[in-house]
Amino acid sequence: NQNRLPYSNVTITNPLITDSSNLILRLEMGDPKLLVPYWKMMSDKCSVVIEGWKFMSHESDASNVCQYMLPELGDAIKRIHSLVHNAAIQDKHIIVGTGSTQLFHAAWFALSSSDSVRPINIVSAAPFYSLYLDGVKALRSGLYQWAGDAATYDKDEPYIEMVTSQNNPVVRSASQGKLIHDLAYYWPQYTPITHHADHDLMLFTFSKCTGHAGSRIGWAIVKDIQVAKKMVHFIQVSTTGVSKESQIRAAKILGVVCDSYQSLGPKGSEHFFDYGKRLLRERWDRMRQVIGQCEVFTVAKPSSAYCNFTKESFETNSAFAWVKCEGGIEDCGTYLKNLGILARPGRLFGVGPEFARISMLSTNDEFDELLTRLLNARREYN
Ligand code: PMP
Repeated sequence: NQNRLPYSNVTITNPLITDSSNLILRLEMGDPKLLVPYWKMMSDKCSVVIEGWKFMSHESDASNVCQYMLPELGDAIKRIHSLVHNAAIQDKHIIVGTGSTQLFHAAWFALSSSDSVRPINIVSAAPFYSLYLDGVKALRSGLYQWAGDAATYDKDEPYIEMVTSQNNPVVRSASQGKLIHDLAYYWPQYTPITHHADHDLMLFTFSKCTGHAGSRIGWAIVKDIQVAKKMVHFIQVSTTGVSKESQIRAAKILGVVCDSYQSLGPKGSEHFFDYGKRLLRERWDRMRQVIGQCEVFTVAKPSSAYCNFTKESFETNSAFAWVKCEGGIEDCGTYLKNLGILARPGRLFGVGPEFARISMLSTNDEFDELLTRLLNARREYN
């Protein structure tokens, strides 16, 4: 019971996949499962044992603005940024959140004013991360409101702008804007590290850095102490801190990544970021080949730059493929669904229905199956 794929020599033997003709491939989320094999190779290097009496208090370090942050995690975050040189952390405050999702809510709260008669506008250049819009709309806060695509925003009023590196590095230049830089993907497996990001409010997440989305750890790097304090207040009133079990696991795993750059493990092993970059590069090469062959979709050409971390030039390996349906197909999301591929439709990101977003971070088997289904699109189309 084997499927030989026409575009490569890969043979799928996984029974889940060979019997999957009527299973929908769920690629609408960005679950970073492609890195599971790497962490399996690390075996018990990342294991954490927590005795029953540990972490029973809400507090960790009363002298820190972020009192509930474990010092081990603060140190590991500083260490990984010093290794990769992707963010300036000196004289800034680190605020830990339950994923960076909680942190962008905390940042909106901190950057808006309770004295203002009108909610402050939040904008982001399309295609923006859909949870910004969903998050604002779900809460119907009196403090802030969604105001759409930053590229077309022309009101003469204060606003908050979400800037996502890699997706939409479009920044409105008006002085009334308060910027939140979501740097979830500013790591060398995805994109060249071209500069030491030094913004007032930057967000990072463990989910995309090492792939541990399930631990729900994110961190903000904040310049202004008043903003930092307000963000901590938001997290205190919403979840009274952040799970210490998750914090200690994140500290351990970030530490293992940093240690591996000091002494590489067994012969033939790879540094973490090299491994992730190689995997994504291979996937993108195959994806482009299939997209070129099937003649139904197009994807934008990636930009290339010199990476100060890997010391070479390379093309961005996006975590998502923004595919555009060509040839008169109006609704890309529905077209893909008919092929058994669940993607996030363009309208959720503020772009047209001819676009859809497909995760590139699935398991190997799911990725192979994705390519097979995309090739089927050609057959149906011709
Ligand atoms: N920002 C962006 C741009 C993302 O893609 C994601 C995750 N998909 C997040 C933030 C949220 O990450 P977290 O898992 O830390 O909440």
